[in-house]
Amino acid sequence: MSTATYTETNLDKKQSAATPAYAAQSAKDQLAPFSIQRREPGPKDIQIEILYCGVCHSDLHTARNEWQNATYPVVPGHEIVGKVTKVGKDVKKFKEGDYAAVGCMVDSDRTCPECKEGLEQYCNNFVGTYNSPDKHLGGMTYGGYSKQIVVDEHFVLRLPDTKNLEGIAPLLCAGITTYSPLRHWKVSKGQKVGIVGLGGLGHMGLKLAHAMGADVTLFTTSPGKTEDAKRLGANHVVISKNTADMEKLVGTFDFILDCVSAQHDINLYLNLLKRDGTLVQVGAPEQPLPTQVFSLIFKRRNFAGSLIGGIAETQEMLDFCAKHGITSDVEVIPIQKINEAYERLLKSDVKYRFVIDMASLK
Ligand code: NAP
Ligand code: ZN
Repeated sequence: MSTATYTETNLDKKQSAATPAYAAQSAKDQLAPFSIQRREPGPKDIQIEILYCGVCHSDLHTARNEWQNATYPVVPGHEIVGKVTKVGKDVKKFKEGDYAAVGCMVDSDRTCPECKEGLEQYCNNFVGTYNSPDKHLGGMTYGGYSKQIVVDEHFVLRLPDTKNLEGIAPLLCAGITTYSPLRHWKVSKGQKVGIVGLGGLGHMGLKLAHAMGADVTLFTTSPGKTEDAKRLGANHVVISKNTADMEKLVGTFDFILDCVSAQHDINLYLNLLKRDGTLVQVGAPEQPLPTQVFSLIFKRRNFAGSLIGGIAETQEMLDFCAKHGITSDVEVIPIQKINEAYERLLKSDVKYRFVIDMASLK
């Protein structure tokens, strides 16, 4: 992510009162209570009391330094919904008392070609909601496993529907990360689309691809998830360990979205694509995924990646979900259960997103 550093003279030292949070102090430590500072809102800032925060597998990858980029302490969390408690004098989109949401980014340089195209996630200077250099206070940014956050209004999202806030929180990462590639590669009615892995991202991928009219197949390692997958929008479910069933599907898919968090054989899925079909990797395992180039060369197949989505597209996704009645299927937990939730993520035992009720954090 961003590697920018900020000099002491750039820093805005105005801090608000101590904010309760949960942090990992090292790759080996469990998450535990921690106190952080947030800045006082500047003219364009919004202060949000966090009500719910989703638990993304990226939180676990980062807390345990699996991507080798963590700076401790790490306060994870980038699926944030809450209530506006204060706005700066130049804020236009929000007022105190509104519901608001924050996803994976809290800033970018706003001047580069990517930012100008609304693709802030590809800005070289994008600031992640956590584990990025904090240009206001110094140190690193702290995420949503906390009571409140202060964010520039450009990076705050409006909620068109506020009936099920806990079910909306995961849209801010799992929702946009699956929506963006489905839109970019123009998934549409009648196309054969595969979703690999039924976790947080995968279950949003099923719902969204189904709403876009695709014929959707879920590939899973968990036979017990078959019925749920059908309820969530899958037309077909394939147990990926069943070689005979996989072989029957070689060369039949227009598009496959791989949402798997751990090592697996990517070539099995590349071979399922039609000529010119595309497999997009959004899952980000710790180790490389070896690719057989012949899977790509024959049939001119594409293997691509995709990172979350821009702010405008995130708003579009929230509006799309409100229109289609789409939210995440969640298991709400108190923050004291976060370490247990991480262990369950590692066992593919999540139905289908943990969401922290921040009222549990005192
Ligand atoms: P998750 O809820 O833990 O789901 C991961 C799913 O992957 C599991 O439920 C399981 O599904 C499958 N899986 C796990 N281990 C597997 C294995 N060894 N072999 C095959 N399948 C396995 O995770 P998530 O929050 O959805 O995140 C998924 C990945 O996307 C993570 O690596 C995360 O960091 C990454 N991510 C990327 C972006 C981006 O912008 N590109 C954004 C957010 C997250 P089944 O039980 O159905 O097999
Ligand atoms: Zn995430």
